[in-house]
Amino acid sequence: MNVADIRFHAKDTLALAHIFEVRAAKYGLWTTVVDVSTLAIPMLVGLIAMTYELGADWLKVVIGVAGTLLIVQAFLDLMSRAFKWRKTTKKALAASKSYVALNNEWDRLGRGDGDSDSKHVESLVAEENRLSEKTVKLNLTPRESRFGERYALHYYLMPCPQCKVVPKDPFAGRRDQCPSCGR
Ligand SMILES: [Zn+2]
Repeated sequence: MNVADIRFHAKDTLALAHIFEVRAAKYGLWTTVVDVSTLAIPMLVGLIAMTYELGADWLKVVIGVAGTLLIVQAFLDLMSRAFKWRKTTKKALAASKSYVALNNEWDRLGRGDGDSDSKHVESLVAEENRLSEKTVKLNLTPRESRFGERYALHYYLMPCPQCKVVPKDPFAGRRDQCPSCGR
């Protein structure tokens, strides 16, 4: 395999490693928010309830029941989201780790100090294909793909295959620019 091809594999794997790293951080943050709020909200409700006088008229009972139902519903909704976020975080972290490992191998080969034996290179390509099949199930959005591509092109100072420009700023993406890198 020639140097240009190796660089291309390095660029692709870095793009995906970075996409999933960012995704894991994003969903990890949301699960933390849920964890904190599931503790904080009942505490807050309790504190508010304590500051009101406990009267025995029917209106208070109705409000109390309705309020409880609302809280239970909000809690269930939050938990169902949190579990999905937790799963998404876990999967993204695993994908990022696999792509980082593969990217390191390609980088090593690119520098000329990796195992350039054709069997080893073939196994790297096979691993990348296996990962990309799994990646399909993780539903990359076009925005994520553009961001990853832009980030990796910028990192390796490579021109985008589509618009032929090296992206200057990986964090300044625009949908109406290049559909591949959004530079
Ligand atoms: Zn481009």
